Amino acid sequence: MSNLDRQATVTACGGRGFVVAEPVRELLSPRHVTLGESTEVRRLLPNLGRRMVGGWAFVDHYGPDDIADEPGMQVPPHPHMGLQTVSWLHQGEVLHRDSTGSLQTVRPRELGLMTSGRAISHSEESPKSHARFLHGAQLWVALPEAHRHTDPRFEHHPELPLVTATGLTATVILGTLDGATSPGTTYTPIVGADLTLAGGTETTLPLERDFEYAVLSMSGEVHADGVPVLPGSMLYLGCGRSELPLRAASDASVLLLGGEPFEEELVMWWNFVARSHEEVEQARRDWMEGTRFGEVHGYDGDPLPAPALPPVALKPRGRVR
Ligand code: MN
Repeated sequence: MSNLDRQATVTACGGRGFVVAEPVRELLSPRHVTLGESTEVRRLLPNLGRRMVGGWAFVDHYGPDDIADEPGMQVPPHPHMGLQTVSWLHQGEVLHRDSTGSLQTVRPRELGLMTSGRAISHSEESPKSHARFLHGAQLWVALPEAHRHTDPRFEHHPELPLVTATGLTATVILGTLDGATSPGTTYTPIVGADLTLAGGTETTLPLERDFEYAVLSMSGEVHADGVPVLPGSMLYLGCGRSELPLRAASDASVLLLGGEPFEEELVMWWNFVARSHEEVEQARRDWMEGTRFGEVHGYDGDPLPAPALPPVALKPRGRVR
């Protein structure tokens, strides 16, 4: 999906300034953002005071929405640079098209992973004939300096490794959990996993001590390190944990997101992850002039125009809070 927020605000993020080195339990509330005409999403990242979790730089949770008599998701062609997008569904389906020629339907618990590298454009839509409910998350991973100018590509991994324990099934979306590694390409030490827990389950997940982590409830109530996490909210856990106790108060489905703290300082604006104001300006200009980001074929509609840039220069965030 795109950042269709009409007031595309600037976010400076990355660096050590926000990272909490020890275990914490910081409950984050979502910001309700309306995308396009009617779709409302709950934005967990970037959040007030919490911009990233490892390389994860953007997290929207949407649905479940009843789209039986509606077109559903309709995101016209728009550009990206400096990031990967992860499309993750629990219900419904999304038809992805991009400027590398991809045409792919992504279904629940399949990984649609788009690496923008230096430039890509894509569209996402609910197919004409679609399931009644749409429920999912849109996540972005920032690319590190060494790989942010790489060639754009799209990966679809319908089969992902599972980690199971009594009452728990974990699907490894990206990176490695408990020895199981996703086939999705990663560029920084990172993990993303989808945990399905039966009500009443008590379990413990192995973690990496030098990663920071957060959990987001997609449905149901899960207690992470004793803190109740309800749908649409996210619990930031800090670093320095070798395990995470989980208890499902009801049947629940949660995302575990983590990674090594992202050291580089970033400027995020609209659908771009950059290092400076000038890069963002150039990318915006290139998109509006129809260069660099290629073309998406087959989408029934016009590309998305970029919003206006804010009048003040965007600066990457410093390391000190
Ligand atoms: Mn997008």
